[in-house]
Amino acid sequence: MRVLVIEDEVRLAATLQDLLELNGYTADVRHDGESGLDEALTGIYDVILLDVMLPRLDGFTVLRRLREAGGSVPVLMLTARSEISDRVEGLDRGADYYLTKPFDPKELLACIRALTRRQPELRNLDLLEFGDLRLEKNSFALSCGERSVRLSRKEFDMMELLMLNRNLVLTKESLLLKLWGYESDAEDNNVEVYISFLRKKLTHLHSCVKIRTIRMVGYCLETEEAGKPGGKD
Ligand code: CA
Repeated sequence: MRVLVIEDEVRLAATLQDLLELNGYTADVRHDGESGLDEALTGIYDVILLDVMLPRLDGFTVLRRLREAGGSVPVLMLTARSEISDRVEGLDRGADYYLTKPFDPKELLACIRALTRRQPELRNLDLLEFGDLRLEKNSFALSCGERSVRLSRKEFDMMELLMLNRNLVLTKESLLLKLWGYESDAEDNNVEVYISFLRKKLTHLHSCVKIRTIRMVGYCLETEEAGKPGGKD
C-alpha cells in the first residue's frame, strides 16, 4: 500500500510519514499543492492524505483537478478544527473522508484501512453486505436470511453510509451533512430518529448487526458475535 501525504507543515508531514511507514505503508511526502497534484496524478497511490491550506494550490483545487483528470484514488482530507465550512466545500468536490486536526494516530490509521477496504465495494454498490445483512440498492430492501424489510429513502441512505464506513465511527455531524445537506435546518435529533427506525428494523429482522452509539461521537455498525463470543442468530 502506497500513501501520498500532501501537507506543508514539515514536522506534521514527517510525523505522518513515520507513522505510516511504522505501520507497513510506503509513504511519500509533498509540501505544496502543485507538486502534490503532479505526484497524485501518477496513479500509483492507494490513498492520498490532503491538507486544505497549502502553498501554490490549495487542497480543494488539488482534489478537483485530480477528479477531473479521472483519478479515483480515495482522498482523506485533513482540516483544521476552525475550517468547518471547508468540510462542506470538500463534500461537493469528491473528498472521501475528513479528519479534523489534531487527530489521533489510531483514528488516522483506521480511516486509511477503511478507505482502502471500501474500494472494491464501490464497484458494486447494488448490493452491500455486512454480518448477516444484505442491502439492495434497486429495491431499498434490507434483508437477513429469509426476512426482509423495505427502507425509506433516508433510512436506506443512512444504512448505506454505515455499511460503507463499517469500521469507522460516523459522527452525527457527518450523517447530518451527508443526508440532509448543510443548508437544511435538520438537527442532531433527525439523525437519532432515523437511527432508532433502523434499530427497530434490525430487531425485526433478528439480525446480529447492531448500531452502536459511541457517546459524544456518533455511530458505528457492529455484529453481536464480535462482542459476545459464541453468540449467534
Ligand atoms: Ca497547511
